[in-house]
Amino acid sequence: MYDYLIVGAGFAGSVLAERLASEGNKVLILDKRNHIGGNAFDYYDEAGILIHKYGPHIFHTNSKEVYEYLSRFTQWRHYQHRVLASLDGQYFPIPINLTTINHMYGMTLDSSQLEAFFASKAEAKNILETSEDVVVNSIGRELYEKFFKNYTRKQWDLDPSELNASVTARVPTRTNKDDRYFTDTYQSMPLHGYTKMFETMLNHPNITIMLGTDYRDAAPEIQFKKMVFTGPVDEYFNYRFGKLPYRSIEFRFETHDQETFQQTGTINYPNDYSFTRITEFKYLSGQKHHKTSIVYEFPTADGDPYYPIPRPDNMALYRQYEELAKSQRNVYFVGRLATYKYYNMDQVVAQALATYKKIKKEASENTRV
Ligand code: FAD
Ligand code: UDP
Repeated sequence: MYDYLIVGAGFAGSVLAERLASEGNKVLILDKRNHIGGNAFDYYDEAGILIHKYGPHIFHTNSKEVYEYLSRFTQWRHYQHRVLASLDGQYFPIPINLTTINHMYGMTLDSSQLEAFFASKAEAKNILETSEDVVVNSIGRELYEKFFKNYTRKQWDLDPSELNASVTARVPTRTNKDDRYFTDTYQSMPLHGYTKMFETMLNHPNITIMLGTDYRDAAPEIQFKKMVFTGPVDEYFNYRFGKLPYRSIEFRFETHDQETFQQTGTINYPNDYSFTRITEFKYLSGQKHHKTSIVYEFPTADGDPYYPIPRPDNMALYRQYEELAKSQRNVYFVGRLATYKYYNMDQVVAQALATYKKIKKEASENTRV
């Protein structure tokens, strides 16, 4: 008899497994994949280069709590991610900044002049509802069309006007020369990789790990008191209200017999090719190797569910599942797929830690009764 059955060994499931086990609960964590780590899983490829099986994962957070919590399981390598956008054979910093604009238009603006430049281009919107609104409102249509429109159409197979503002709002605009992709307080990669960090997290006598196991096959045979579910919420309820759309990606890995392939960690291709971006892993890991491995991302409709698609009809459908989820006794839904939220890793860790506090509170209230 387990106290908890945890479905999914990604960030959501592993954090809860660790927390619950540390309080003396017997935990069984299972995953249908043959590895732990969920989408953050990394491993050494044939050339001996550390790569991320499900696309590039860069850790960044403003949460001291999340950073300190994960620091119990890994040392870190300080890393600031930088991205260039390839347009017409030239490379420009993205997020768009002072360098981007001066390079693109052959100007020598300073920050306050750039502010005025953006203001002259911007199409003011009263309400920022869509992913088109949010960009056009701050930098105008021309830059929107160069950097955002086609990239978004490729990534989501939707026009930015059909997606919630929150999607393109992930990428800010800057009037200074800061060319980092993220500006969070903590930006680091696990020194020995994500998988090693997960191994340490799950290395506890109260935790049993079962891999290559779909919970739908295994659950009838397992005795447990409570469940944490981190897979797709619509799947849990047998698609009762219909399928929740998720966007997938096909990853193409290549190893090149050269020290470096490109000039920065990621290069985005907003307007050319059917892939969105190429990432070179050695920038992320800091690994020294005479060869280098890269990944292309080709967005697709079919395949593993990677991205919830934030748009009003999908959110309405999710709310139906959310209501049902709330009515389940002793089942907790946590993570990017189970709560249908376009969350980064740190947000999932924060959500899992909050769920753990809720579970503890419930347990102490029950004891009091
Ligand atoms: P997952 O990692 O998806 O884990 C869920 C697990 O549940 C999976 O392992 C799955 O196999 C398992 N499962 C599902 N159904 C079943 C079932 N029926 N039976 C058994 N097991 C099941 N975040 C960042 O912070 N920085 C980044 O740079 C970043 N880059 C990303 C790039 C890509 C291409 C993608 C797709 C995501 C990226 N993310 C990034 C987001 C990050 O991957 C997620 O926030 C995080 O991994 C989600 O963790 P999770 O535990 O919620 O879900
Ligand atoms: N985006 C874009 N052009 C870019 C980078 C991002 O249009 O050069 C848009 C696109 O819609 C993308 C979203 O902003 O899906 C969020 O970008 P981010 O890099 O955060 O995506 P993720 O790393 O989660 O795939």
